Amino acid sequence: MFPVEKLNSIQTPFYYYDKALLQQTLDAINAEAGKYEGYKVHYAVKANVDPALLGIVNASGLGCDCVSGGEVERCLMSGFAPSKIVFAGVGKADWEINLALDANIACFNVESEPELEVIDALAGVKGKMANVALRVNPNVDAHTHKYITTGLSENKFGISMEMLDEVVDKALELRNINLIGLHFHIGSQLLEFEPFEMLCSRINDLQDRFEARGVTFKTINVGGGLGVDYVNPDENPIPDFATFFATYNKYFKLRPGQELHFELGRAVVCQCGSLISRVLYVKKGLNKQFVILDAGMSDLIRPALYQAHHKIENITSTSAETETYDVVGPICESSDCFGTDEVLPVTKRGDLVALRSAGAYGQIMASNYNCRKIPASVVL
Ligand SMILES: *Cc1c(COP(=O)(O)O)cnc(C)c1O
Repeated sequence: MFPVEKLNSIQTPFYYYDKALLQQTLDAINAEAGKYEGYKVHYAVKANVDPALLGIVNASGLGCDCVSGGEVERCLMSGFAPSKIVFAGVGKADWEINLALDANIACFNVESEPELEVIDALAGVKGKMANVALRVNPNVDAHTHKYITTGLSENKFGISMEMLDEVVDKALELRNINLIGLHFHIGSQLLEFEPFEMLCSRINDLQDRFEARGVTFKTINVGGGLGVDYVNPDENPIPDFATFFATYNKYFKLRPGQELHFELGRAVVCQCGSLISRVLYVKKGLNKQFVILDAGMSDLIRPALYQAHHKIENITSTSAETETYDVVGPICESSDCFGTDEVLPVTKRGDLVALRSAGAYGQIMASNYNCRKIPASVVL
C-alpha cells in the first residue's frame, strides 16, 4: 500500500499523505452528511494545514473551522470562501478579531462575555455587524484523554449552561452583534456515540428553554470529535461517518429551516498521513533492544503529550522473522518513545518505518526542539 520505492528515495523524516484516501474520506463525508437536510460540514483546520490537503478539502466543498488568526489567513490563502469560515477559540486577540471582521467570515464562535464585548466594540469601529454563535459548555463527559476532553464544567472552554441566559441577553442587546447560533465541542477522539447522544439531548433541552422565551437560532454547531482507529488503520481507513451523522439525525431535534454544523478535524485527515522515518541504529540493551529512528517527538508529539500510540510498521524489511523492540526517537527526553515491546520484522539500519494515522495533529504540532528541522510533506 505504501509506494515504498518512491518513499525510499526521499530524505527522512517526512510526512507522507495519501491523496486518494483523503478524497475517499471526503466523498464518504459528503455522501453521509448529504443524506440529511441542513447538515453542513466544516474541516477543523488545526488538525493539518498542509496547502495541498487544504486545496483538496476546499474542492470537496467543506467549509473550515479556525482557532486562530493565522488559521483564518491560511484558509483565505487556500481559497476558502469567507462565508464558509468560522472562528472559535477562548483567547482571540484584537488583531485576530479585526482580521476576521475585515475578511467578513461567516461566524465567530464566542466563548465568554468579555470576548463578546470586545467583538462588539471592534465591529462598531468598522461599522460592521459580527455574526456570533455562543459556545456552550454542555457538561458532557466525552470519555477521552483528559487533555482532549473539552465539554466538562471545569474545562476552560465555552459558557456554562447556568450562565447562558445572561450572555444571550447581552448578545441580543449589543448593537454590532448578530446572534445566529449556539456552538458546542465536547472533545476529540471519541470512539463511542453515547456522548454525542447526550450532547443532542442537552441541546434539545436548551432549544426548548430558549424557544419558550422567544429566542431561536439559525445554526447549531456541534463541533467535531469523531475518533479514528489507531490500532487497525488498514481495516478501518475511513471513520464511521454513517453512524455519526445518523446519530445526530436520530437524537437531535432540528428546527424547521435550521442548519446543523459539524467541525471534523481528525476524522478527515488522520488516516491519510504517516510519518516516514529511517532506522538509524538498532541498539542492544541489557534486557531490551532499541530501534532508534531519525524521527522523534519534535516531529510527532502525540505519544509524549497524550500517551497516544501510532501503529508502527517497518515498510522495507523483507524478513519473515520478528523481534521485540522499543522504538524511540533521537531526542534528549525519555518521553521520546513511540512504542515499547513492539513486535516487528527483524529490523536493521536503513529500514523505513511508518508511524501510521499521523495525518491529524502530527506535522502541525512539529517543533524545532533540539534545533531539528520541521518535517516536510510528500503528497502522492
Ligand atoms: C479541535 C476542534 C475541533 C475538531 O476536533 P476533532 O476531534 O479533530 O474532530 C472542532 N471544533 C473545535 C472548536 C475544536 O477546537
